[in-house]
Amino acid sequence: MTKTALAHDICVCGAGPAGLAAALAVAAKGLAVTVLGQALPGAATTAAEPDTRTTAILGDGVTLLENISVWGALAGVSAPIAAIRVIDDRGGLLTAPEVLFQAGELDLPAFGYNVPNSALRAALLAAAERHPRITLVATEGVVQIVAGADNVTLKTTENTSFATRLLIAADGRSSLAPRAAGIAMRTWTYDQFAIAASFGHSAAHDGISTELHRRPGPLTTVPLPDGADGARSGLVWVETPDEARRLMALDDEAFGGVLQRRLKGLLGDLRGVGRRATFPLGGAMATSVASHRIVLAGEAGHVLPPIGAQGLNLGLRDAAAIADAVAGCADGDPGGPDVMGTYARARASDLVSREIGIDLLNRSLLVDFLPVQAMRGLGLHALANSRTLRRAAMRAGLRGPGEVPTLMRRLAKTAGDVR
Ligand SMILES: Cc1cc2nc3c(=O)[nH]c(=O)nc-3n(C[C@H](O)[C@H](O)[C@H](O)COP(=O)(O)OP(=O)(O)OC[C@H]3O[C@@H](n4cnc5c(N)ncnc54)[C@H](O)[C@@H]3O)c2cc1C
Repeated sequence: MTKTALAHDICVCGAGPAGLAAALAVAAKGLAVTVLGQALPGAATTAAEPDTRTTAILGDGVTLLENISVWGALAGVSAPIAAIRVIDDRGGLLTAPEVLFQAGELDLPAFGYNVPNSALRAALLAAAERHPRITLVATEGVVQIVAGADNVTLKTTENTSFATRLLIAADGRSSLAPRAAGIAMRTWTYDQFAIAASFGHSAAHDGISTELHRRPGPLTTVPLPDGADGARSGLVWVETPDEARRLMALDDEAFGGVLQRRLKGLLGDLRGVGRRATFPLGGAMATSVASHRIVLAGEAGHVLPPIGAQGLNLGLRDAAAIADAVAGCADGDPGGPDVMGTYARARASDLVSREIGIDLLNRSLLVDFLPVQAMRGLGLHALANSRTLRRAAMRAGLRGPGEVPTLMRRLAKTAGDVR
């Protein structure tokens, strides 16, 4: 028999980073919110494997984490990203010059910080657990979402049913919410896998993240704080699926040897390769992020390949925009037309521009068509030679177009501040 829980004003489905950030952002605006999520305290089963990834949280994302009282737990385990070096390593006819984007050119100490995903989720969860306006409900999963005129109803595997006036769907790339809201998703795949890990190295990274643009995809190293054995970096290595499988089958030492050769000595001798995991790369974009009392946040609404480190940064901007929409709601209904319209307008141009930019950049590595490579090379030449262009590109990478959500604003000028 279905148990019916109390009606709620605002529910979040999904306790990943986007969902927890959205819950904390809404609660920071003084509103109560219920989170239905997997692997929460009290759950029958916990998350299977620890996340090997690190996430580069850029610009205003750090400010949001500060404003929702999460950053304090992360500052010590995160490393500042002071510069991003892009190296054309396609080995084709037209090799572009190296481009160095330095946060100092925007008068910033850093573009943002690289945070281990496991620490990020733990810090978000701890902040949500201690927040008086957040209720966490552990479930094996939400299995049904039905949007009605006055409520959205969610049913869990435990056969409990929840009614909410606003559903913030943050249940990842297989979310049930777009269909329930009548929102179409465009999806696509790339013939690429990403290998994510962290590793130690003998040369200092100096706060520089390096992106090697290779034919199968980017190989990116991102600074981490020093470990007991010295300097460490996070790794996102994009390869063809076959090559990724081959690399995954190698033992740590052999894998480190191949990586060291690919990095051409940039980080010295490698050691201490941590646990590796692979992620098949694809993309998805909702045709709208708000409909029928449901708003989409994080990968429930958009999935992008890791080049440019935009994925969760977009999810954090979703979280901050939802908080503004519900806090400013004119008609008193958190799932009403006012909130739906405000959120959809706030997110539209950011999402469209990121989708186009990131997809083009990723695909431009995959094709050998000479005019495409000439365009890519010209773009990198222009960036290498023009401070104005570099500054414009850096600003665009750090912040979405349009108004900055209130929880992403700060008064003092520090790492999260982009002018
Ligand atoms: C290799 C790699 C590197 C990346 N690096 C970066 C980076 O440097 N910077 C950046 O900004 N982004 C990066 N990204 C993207 C970033 O990792 C994702 O955007 C982010 O993890 C998505 O968070 P999310 O909360 O939307 O989804 P998820 O992390 O997938 O969370 C979804 C949550 O919903 C829960 N859930 C799912 N189904 C249900 C259900 N039916 N009922 C209840 N709960 C459910 C899941 O348990 C999970 O907790 C990277 C991605 C990859 C693959």
